[in-house]
Amino acid sequence: MTRIGIVTCANATQDLACCSHLCLRDLNEGRGMFSAYQTNDGAKLVGIVSCAGCPTAVGAGKILGKIRSLIETGVDAIHFANCVVALCPFQSQFTEAIRESFGETTLVMGTHGAADKDTITAFKTAVGEMLCQRKESLADVAGAMCYVPNARGHEPAPEQKDEAS
Ligand code: SF4
Ligand code: SF4
Repeated sequence: MTRIGIVTCANATQDLACCSHLCLRDLNEGRGMFSAYQTNDGAKLVGIVSCAGCPTAVGAGKILGKIRSLIETGVDAIHFANCVVALCPFQSQFTEAIRESFGETTLVMGTHGAADKDTITAFKTAVGEMLCQRKESLADVAGAMCYVPNARGHEPAPEQKDEAS
């Protein structure tokens, strides 16, 4: 049996709350990119981590701490999830950094079954829209608590008016 680790895109699993269900479905059923392990008694998941977030142009090695946590479990192969493959502009820098530090580790690009081009485009569009949708935040209440009316027209709280007079 082949011991598998999975790296997901933090935007998909942390910001957008994917629980990796398609990755795990295909791993459990020996489908998608995991079908290759069927000849070796299948695959066993030993760890799943999200990426470490944006590495900037100079910090691809920040993912190594996450990778090390999988390496320590004795993985035979590390899969980058389909979301990383579809969305990440840093994937080649990540793989380069991983190969420099953990050269013998098998890296596989992809997890669940390959989608067609239209599905990938629709996935990317949906992710872009979800990431950019307006969410309530503390910025929505901060203006109302501030003495200086902000650009959205919030009035200062009454007690703050009194203190200032
Ligand atoms: S590849 Fe799909 S199912 Fe797997 S973690 Fe990414 S978004 Fe979720
Ligand atoms: S796009 Fe790349 S660096 Fe950004 S969260 Fe996803 S995997 Fe991580």
